[in-house]
Amino acid sequence: MQQMPNKTIIVPNRDGQGWLHGVRTMNVDWRCHICGEETGNPKLQQFCEEGKWYSVHTWVKPCGHMAKYLRKATIMGN
Ligand SMILES: [Zn+2]
Repeated sequence: MQQMPNKTIIVPNRDGQGWLHGVRTMNVDWRCHICGEETGNPKLQQFCEEGKWYSVHTWVKPCGHMAKYLRKATIMGN
């Protein structure tokens, strides 16, 4: 059995309506749950929302699949 790479990432903490409540830290499998391809390295990025600055990780997924638990957390909402 292949070992799953794990990474600790910081993501925007949004509720079901999309409102931001600071940031949260997650430990996730850094491999696509659909095709198994490894995701690109996360980079810390600053963003501003409602006058406050936050540092969150952004990353590129080469295969384009979006993990369900991250869908809500992405900055641009794609
Ligand atoms: Zn994939």
